Amino acid sequence: MGEILEATCENCSYQKQFRLGIGMMYGSLDDLSSESNPLTILDLIHSEKMQAEVVQLITTQNGTIDSRKDAGYALFVCERCKTIHSRFFFRLRHNKGVYVPSYCCPECERHLKQIDPETVKQEKRRFTCPKCSQKKAVIVAETTSLWD
Ligand SMILES: [Zn+2]
Ligand SMILES: [Zn+2]
Repeated sequence: MGEILEATCENCSYQKQFRLGIGMMYGSLDDLSSESNPLTILDLIHSEKMQAEVVQLITTQNGTIDSRKDAGYALFVCERCKTIHSRFFFRLRHNKGVYVPSYCCPECERHLKQIDPETVKQEKRRFTCPKCSQKKAVIVAETTSLWD
């Protein structure tokens, strides 16, 4: 089950919903990392380069998805332009360590940093609007609806 965060801009009509966690359609991540179908997680990865890295780690380095910890859609922020994004996050343990996905900002290509949605809500942090570019205009609000 996932949670939806709603972001709205005070300055323009920008409105976006961020899906966090993992939706019903994928079942639980335990299923995703089961031995019968260890590569299903690839369905959630859209970058071909990252898919290739994950396949290589699973097939040659005993890679397994650490499913109980943090896996699912997570909230990321760009430290340069301060826009927020949701991306799929997971930990893949393998022989040489732990692989975590890295993402770049679609606005400015800077590396995205994961942020805790609870902290964002509690501290009422504001972000840059990707539509009107107004700084500190986007507010993140919690919504109760769950996605599937
Ligand atoms: Zn705006
Ligand atoms: Zn950026």
